[in-house]
Amino acid sequence: MPRRKKTFACGHRGYGQSCQHCAQIESAKAESLRILTEKQQQKLAWKSRFDDDPIDLRELPEYVVLKAREILAALRDRQDYRDFGGKRLRHDRQIISIPVTRNYRMICQDTGTAVVPQAVVSHEDYNVCKPRA
Ligand SMILES: [Zn+2]
Repeated sequence: MPRRKKTFACGHRGYGQSCQHCAQIESAKAESLRILTEKQQQKLAWKSRFDDDPIDLRELPEYVVLKAREILAALRDRQDYRDFGGKRLRHDRQIISIPVTRNYRMICQDTGTAVVPQAVVSHEDYNVCKPRA
């Protein structure tokens, strides 16, 4: 006996006990909801991590934030700033500038006992505050 299409309560026609069309829509909805929630959670997790940073990194691009955190962690472990290409400023030997990326520098203050991160600034901002040679 040939299988016959039937009309489900939803109005779709098909074979089987329940509407495959609606089942597909439901699972697609569930999947997109799952992805959305995951993304929201990642976003929240990403935001909350800024509270743990010793300096404010909120305004920076993501790849700069990640690189800056690597340096912050290394400094916290008392790794030498020179390992990252950091240099003392010529006009102020207490200030250390560490390249984060091509366009960003981490400015640190040498207190004599520790290298304390102050801020991450873009190359342009950094050049503005640097007096002319
Ligand atoms: Zn249906």
